[in-house]
This record gives sequence, structure tokens and C-alpha cells, in this order.
Amino acid sequence: MSAAKQVIVVGAGIIGASVAWHLAKAGANVTVVADSGAGGFATPNSFSWINASWGNPEPYFRLRTRSMAEWTRLAHDVPGIPLEWCGGLCWDLPPAELEAYAVEHSAWGYGIERVDRMGAARIEPNLTKLPDFALHVAEEGVAEPVAATQALLVDAVQRGLRMMGGTAVTALVQTNGRITGVDMSGGRIAADEVVIAAGAGSPAIAATAGLKLPIETPPGLIVHSRPYEKLLNGLVIGDRLHMRQTAEGRIIAGSDFGGADPGMDAAATGRELFAAMKSMLRDADRLELDFHSVGYRPTPIDGFPIIGRAEGLSGLYVAVMHSGITLAPAVGLFAAREILDDARDPLLEPYGLTRFAQ
Ligand SMILES: Cc1cc2nc3c(=O)[nH]c(=O)nc-3n(C[C@H](O)[C@H](O)[C@H](O)COP(=O)(O)OP(=O)(O)OC[C@H]3O[C@@H](n4cnc5c(N)ncnc54)[C@H](O)[C@@H]3O)c2cc1C
Repeated sequence: MSAAKQVIVVGAGIIGASVAWHLAKAGANVTVVADSGAGGFATPNSFSWINASWGNPEPYFRLRTRSMAEWTRLAHDVPGIPLEWCGGLCWDLPPAELEAYAVEHSAWGYGIERVDRMGAARIEPNLTKLPDFALHVAEEGVAEPVAATQALLVDAVQRGLRMMGGTAVTALVQTNGRITGVDMSGGRIAADEVVIAAGAGSPAIAATAGLKLPIETPPGLIVHSRPYEKLLNGLVIGDRLHMRQTAEGRIIAGSDFGGADPGMDAAATGRELFAAMKSMLRDADRLELDFHSVGYRPTPIDGFPIIGRAEGLSGLYVAVMHSGITLAPAVGLFAAREILDDARDPLLEPYGLTRFAQ
């Protein structure tokens, strides 16, 4: 039997954790190196809506819905993943566009139910402002991001993964045109393959091997209340305000699911957003703002994920994206198959790095 493949995964956010877990499960010898703890940087600041909602072309919709199905599999296989299919009530588009989205995505098989004001009130009885027309998707949900990431890494450690938290990768090591390891603050380690799953930190690492990753990192602000009695049943994707209640009981909100633009004064933006959120909820007089967070979304410039090997640089795999909470299970599964068996899933076809060369 050949020796297990040695793989270094750079990054301990939801993407690094999922890729590492799937590799470890498939028998690879995996080391995760991250300058954060288990949980990453964008991941703890995420709204964490798992969806294949409007605005996605069909191939991307298919990848997202596949990943939604893979979340159920992952939560079954990994103890302690807090996944809830709580459903999403959405009216953040003008009615005609909402209807066009319903027609298109229903034809693709998305489980959309049209609801009127009374229907919305049945789904979310504590909303003060109800839409005349909204769409409800029962199959949308949430995975609490840090707990899910940690659960993946804890389980992977039990499968033999080595975790090196608090360690920065300073450069990729290149030998005869092949990536053979990483240089870190504490020395060098060798591997058969290196996976860059370092979110916003990915371009700097890739650049050390001459590889350009075209990524932007727009900020997103989310407000977090103190834990409160249950007011929301699921995701509320309202006009200019998106909110949900976390497993801990906090109500969190952004002005869209990617978070609000923090502006010049993030604290003031947070206070305004919190007031707007509070005014949308009945029986929320004791609801208090606890803190706001600003996360940086690792977003490839065309908005779609970068998942795959780097052309002309063997031994290197890249997995960087926005919507990483939705996509993590499918990306982890497909990346592990490609790294270990050289089998690229057809759903990944549009998401290679070569598209930026054209
Ligand atoms: C405000 C906001 C709202 C969002 N809402 C949603 C949503 O509703 N649904 C959804 O699906 N997605 C959402 N996203 C996007 C999602 O959160 C991200 O796509 C996802 O968290 C990215 O995970 P990641 O593991 O790639 O990155 P991160 O969580 O940022 O992890 C990066 C990891 O790389 C490590 N790293 C970086 N550089 C180095 C280095 N040089 N050496 C060692 N380690 C390094 C870091 O330490 C960290 O561990 C949102 C994001 C934000 C910010």
C-alpha cells in the first residue's frame, strides 16, 4: 500500500476546516496551519445563511443546492455541528423581481412558497412590519459558523489531523516548479500538496510563488444583541435588513446577508442598524445591543469561487470564496477527491483559476 498523501491546509476557517476534514476522512496525512485559532477570520463574522437564493446563474445555483444537501450529510457524520433548516422568509427585491426569481428558481427545483401578509405572520409572528408579498424557502438554514468549524477540526484531529494554530505561513516552498511545502514563522514543513484556504490572506501566500489571486475583501458589519427569548423562527431577509436568531439566542442583523457597509463610523452604523432591527420586532423592548462585528468577505473579483489547482504549479490547490458557509461541505468533498484521486467534479468546472487568464 502506498503511503498516505501529505497535505498542508493553510487556513482554519470553515473552508480550510472542511477541506481538511474531508482529506483526513479519506485517509490523507493532513496538517492545518493557521495564524488564527480554529474558526478563522471571515467565518466568525458571517451571517451564515445557507441558501441558493436569487442572483445566482444556474450552474452556481446547482453547486449551492448540492452543498446544502452535503451539509445534512456532514452534520450526520460530525458530532456537534449546529445545523438548523429553519427556513428563510425573503422580500428583499421589488415584487416583480421577487416573482421572476420565484418562477425561475421554482423551475430549477428550489422549494419556494409564495406567501402574503397573513402567511408571513404565521411564519414569523413577531414581525412588526409585514410584507404584502414574500417568498418562503423551508429548505434554507444556518450552521453556526465557529462551532461548525471547530467541530470539523476536533473530529479531524481524532482522525489524525495535526493542528498548528497561531502560526503564520510566510511563503510557499517551490522546488523545480512544484510546491513542496510552506515556510512558517516557526520553520519549514514539507508536503505532497498545499491547499490555500486562507480567505483574505490567500493572495499574499499565493504571490510568494508568483501566482495572482484576484480577490477583493469588502467589509460587512453585523450587529449582535445580547441573548434574548425566542423571537424569530428562521431567517428574515427583509427589505434592507436581514436578521436571524442564533443558537445562543442573540438576534443578529446586517443590511444584507453580506453585512452592512460599516461606513466612516462603524459603531454609529451599528447603532442605527440595531435600532432598525429592534423596530421590526414585537416584544423586543428589553433587547440590547451587545456588540458589532466587521468581517472581510474573501470575494473573487467576478463574485464566484476559486476552487482548483493552480495551472503550471503542481502541488498547489486553491479554495477561496464568498458564501463559504453555504459552500463549505461540497467544496471540502470535491477538493479532497480532486487532491487525492485527481477527479474534478463537473460542478466545479466554471470555478478554476484559468478563467481569469482569458
Ligand atoms: C459580514 C459577512 C456576512 C457573510 N454572510 C454569509 C452568509 O450569509 N452565507 C454564506 O454562505 N457566507 C457568508 N459570508 C461569507 C463567509 O463567511 C466566508 O466565505 C467564509 O467564512 C470564508 O471562510 P474561509 O475559511 O475561506 O476564511 P476565514 O474564515 O477568513 O479563514 C481564513 C483562515 O486563513 C488563515 N490565514 C490567512 N492568512 C494566513 C497566513 N499567512 N498564514 C496562516 N494562516 C493564514 C486565517 O488564520 C484563518 O484561519 C459572510 C461573510 C461576512 C464577512
